[in-house]
This record gives sequence, structure tokens and C-alpha cells, in this order.
Amino acid sequence: MIVAIDGASGTGKSTVSKLLAQQFKLSYIDTGAIYRSVALVVQEKKIELNDEKRLSSLCLSLPLRFEFVDGVNRVFLDKRDISEDIRVPEMSMLASKVSALPVVRASLLDMQRRLAKINKNGAILDGRDIGTVVFPNADIKIYLTASNQVRAERRYLELRSKGMDVDPKTILEQTIQRDKQDSERAIAPLKKAADAIEIDTDGLNIEQVKQKVADIITQRG
Ligand code: C5P
Repeated sequence: MIVAIDGASGTGKSTVSKLLAQQFKLSYIDTGAIYRSVALVVQEKKIELNDEKRLSSLCLSLPLRFEFVDGVNRVFLDKRDISEDIRVPEMSMLASKVSALPVVRASLLDMQRRLAKINKNGAILDGRDIGTVVFPNADIKIYLTASNQVRAERRYLELRSKGMDVDPKTILEQTIQRDKQDSERAIAPLKKAADAIEIDTDGLNIEQVKQKVADIITQRG
């Protein structure tokens, strides 16, 4: 079973997906973490965004691993744990830029499809184009939404809880800018698949969103 959970940042995709993956014994694939990892390497290795050759070879040989450590989903690049490094606001913005490049998206498609097939029960993938491009025939497609204010507030609280000193106004501006970039790019923009079920998460807590999606999986799965 393939469950696609798409939506803008701060709609609760990753938290809900992790909980559902545990409940339904599916693997969880955080596709945003893949783009964030590419962004991290691009920054550290100073790869130019117009250097298609280097970008493609980076994406095709990215030594990325997802691992559960003490119940927490960690991201490794080879042996290095990059879970924290990829979550800073700067990397969110760079991931959004890098992910708009056709060469990057094309080179990462295979990896996402391969990762989803490792567990024989199936996978939950969260992202922006899972139901439209990566798995257009996904068994279940969910599209989460929330207002800008609510999404920025969730992002702010998440970063604060990790001890980051962030300004709420900047987070709101970055949230709006990133989603505009993600929705307006020419290739695989953030958009609801025609057959996705939309859930407005304003005013709902994580447990309530999870329950709504769990009910859909149970009915259809
Ligand atoms: O989901 P997350 O906020 O971690 O994603 C970081 C960025 O990666 C997004 O803003 C988006 O530009 C990009 N992304 C994408 N397609 C996906 C997942 C993420 O373009 N399937």
C-alpha cells in the first residue's frame, strides 16, 4: 500500500505520517529530508545551482539512510547524522530553491520509488508531489492544508522546541515565500492531485488529523 501525504509546510504532514506509519506498519519516507540533504551538500561543497552535471551525480549517488534511533527518525549521510543540520530555516529555503531544478527532481525520482518498496507492507510518503508525480497511482492520496498564520505558528513552535532562537515574523515571511516558490515552480509544483482527499487542519490537533487519515486508510486500504 502506498499512502501519499502532500501539502505545504506546517500542515502537519511529517508528524501525522510518522504516527500512521507506526500504526499501519508501513515505512515512512520523508521526501522533504531528501531535498534538504541535497541542499546541505550543495551548500557545503559549494556546488553551483547551474552545474547540472555535479547536481545530477550528487543526487544519483547520495548516500542517504533513514534510521529509527530510540524511536526517533534520524537521517544519515553515510555515517554522519544530519538530522539537525537539515532542519534549520536556512536549509528549508535552500531546499526549496534546489528542489525547483529539473535535474534534481528527475535524479531523485528513482530513489523515492525504491525506498517506498523496501517494506513489503508498503509506505507512507510525505512531500509536495507524491500524489501527482512520484506515485500518481498511490492507493490513498491526502492533501493537507492550513492557513498561513497557523502553519507559521506551528513551524515557530517546532523550531523553538529545538532550542532555536527564531523570530515569529521572519518565520511567517519565510513560510509564505517558500510555499509560493514551491507552488509556482514549473516542474512538479505543490498542488492537490485531482483524486486526493483534502483535509483542512486549522483548529485540529495532530491526533485529530491522524485519526481522520487513519479512518480513510482503514476504509480504503
Ligand atoms: O517537507 P519539507 O519542508 O521538509 O521540504 C523541504 C522543501 O523540499 C520544500 O519546501 C520543497 O521545496 C521541497 N520538497 C519538494 N518535493 C517534495 C518534498 C519536499 O519539492 N516531495
